[in-house]
Amino acid sequence: MTYVVAIDGPAAAGKSTTARLVALRLGIMHLNTGAMYRAVTLACQEQDVAPAETPELMALLDDLDIQLRSTEAGSQAFLNGRDVTRAIQTPEVSQRVSAYSSLAPVRRRLVSLQRGIGEHHSVVCEGRDIGTIVFPDAQFKFYLQASLEIRARRRLGELRAQGLQPSQETVVEELQARDRQDSTRELSPLRRAPDAMVIDTSRMTIEAQVEAIAAHVENAQRSGKAQNNYEDEAQHD
Ligand code: C5P
Repeated sequence: MTYVVAIDGPAAAGKSTTARLVALRLGIMHLNTGAMYRAVTLACQEQDVAPAETPELMALLDDLDIQLRSTEAGSQAFLNGRDVTRAIQTPEVSQRVSAYSSLAPVRRRLVSLQRGIGEHHSVVCEGRDIGTIVFPDAQFKFYLQASLEIRARRRLGELRAQGLQPSQETVVEELQARDRQDSTRELSPLRRAPDAMVIDTSRMTIEAQVEAIAAHVENAQRSGKAQNNYEDEAQHD
């Protein structure tokens, strides 16, 4: 039987690396839904399609082919056959993505792709609405959070690794603006599912985050507890 591990949380809470490594350890697929919204944003940016429900946007969504691949070395994203791994992580895409991800046709298209994958494969799926909307019946749900300061420091490190030199202030502002937009939008806002286990990653290493999630899944599977019923264990904030 296939199963879903849902991981949600705000920007730069440590979801992507953790989800990729948890998927590798469990031997199942990794689905980074943020990369899908970023790929749509990049396509719109390149084809000059505004964030509005227009025929141009619908045509772009009809032609969309997004492929994601995760390995030990990292994750790759392909848009209509082209490697866009780096192009979807630029500050321009980060600034624009929330405007596109709040549109109904974009969400309809991507959520249907995501559910199609989860129907046939066991998957670690990460994003903003995975435990609430995409896979509300996921067997395992986690919500990763971390202080704004720590998230900004992590994002700054990622951007510097790409050769960019943004100020700490710019990064804090971008994260705050994106979280605000993602959690106040009408459709599928960022929310912790009531039955998700909260993990504060502020003082955790990646290894510890992976261990917390993967060990929980492995223990539940060993004890035959297939369904998500650990609500009492969740730390309520
Ligand atoms: O996870 P990441 O920060 O790369 O996500 C980029 C953006 O994609 C988010 O800020 C949000 O606007 C959008 N997103 C979403 N729903 C998801 C995953 C990401 O709206 N499930």
